[in-house]
Amino acid sequence: MFQNDLKKAIEEVLHGRPVALPTETVYGLAARIDNPEAIKAIFKLKERPFFDPLIVHVRSIEQAQSLVSWWPPEAQKLAESFWPGPLTLVLPKAAHVDSMITSGLDTVALRWPRQELFQKVLDEVKIPLAAPSANKFGRTSPTEAHHVKDEFKDDPVFVLDGGPCEIGIESTVVKIFPSENETELALLRKGSITESQIKNTLNNFSVRFVDSVSAKDSPGHMKHHYMPAIPLIICLKRKDLKQLAQEIYRKISLLPPIVEQVKMIPLTREPQQILELKLSEDPRLATREFYGQLRKLAKSGGECIVYFKETQADPAPWEALYDRMAKAASLILND
Ligand code: AMP
Ligand code: MG
Repeated sequence: MFQNDLKKAIEEVLHGRPVALPTETVYGLAARIDNPEAIKAIFKLKERPFFDPLIVHVRSIEQAQSLVSWWPPEAQKLAESFWPGPLTLVLPKAAHVDSMITSGLDTVALRWPRQELFQKVLDEVKIPLAAPSANKFGRTSPTEAHHVKDEFKDDPVFVLDGGPCEIGIESTVVKIFPSENETELALLRKGSITESQIKNTLNNFSVRFVDSVSAKDSPGHMKHHYMPAIPLIICLKRKDLKQLAQEIYRKISLLPPIVEQVKMIPLTREPQQILELKLSEDPRLATREFYGQLRKLAKSGGECIVYFKETQADPAPWEALYDRMAKAASLILND
């Protein structure tokens, strides 16, 4: 049965049909990069605007090198240190990489994932696979096969079930680019591999870390992203849920219907049933649970979700999760 599913996933990909595959981060919607119709189908299924580029998944460092026009020693070091794994490297692209994948940018995002089933598909198909998260644009990323089935219940997408994702949020994205005297690096997206791990790994290299990059360099980083089907509200102070209802309704009603092409989630009345999101105290577990919990609460009949965010003694391991949480939230209440 299981072998048959793997075979079916490989056949679908070979025939140019997008297939949902597990990765160690979240489930991806994968298609071969040499088939423009298959790539177009990903954007269509996800309702994703063409300005948001896709990450290309490879099965070796050599395959990654074949997709870029520049592979500096820093890329080699990071790839050797963190691949296969949840690190995406953005580098100047080779001319033959389809600009639909890169949204017309002159760079391409590359990752060698470590999830075993994804690797098996890559090994059989032999062609790199473009694979964004398997959810509709702007919504919560799927971390279990049934999340993907729910998301695409009206579309014929085959889902390869690899169980729950190990990490639970998207990969760290690092851009590497040449400048006059040294290589420059920019962290475009936080993830389970932290900035300090990357800096430590490149200790002996002459690199410059650039803090901010323009929106043009980092498309797809909208203010709101990963949003569940009912509004999520982050509260920095603990309050009585009943007390919160009025404030939440008033503030959500003031939000525009669409922000940076992402539809906001409305509330049609003062919420009668507010659900509290509770996560494990261990940041790795909390990160793994987060998207699944959002989906579960959104399906359970409540009208909105609140999370009472506490100050962490050691904030570093919480950073990537809190980054996603802030984007998934419709509102952040500071007091
Ligand atoms: P996902 O939706 O998880 O597949 O993530 C894709 C994200 O990777 C995009 O939204 C971008 O933020 C980033 N990305 C992909 N390709 C590039 C690129 N060429 N330059 C900068 N960021 C990129
Ligand atoms: Mg995504």
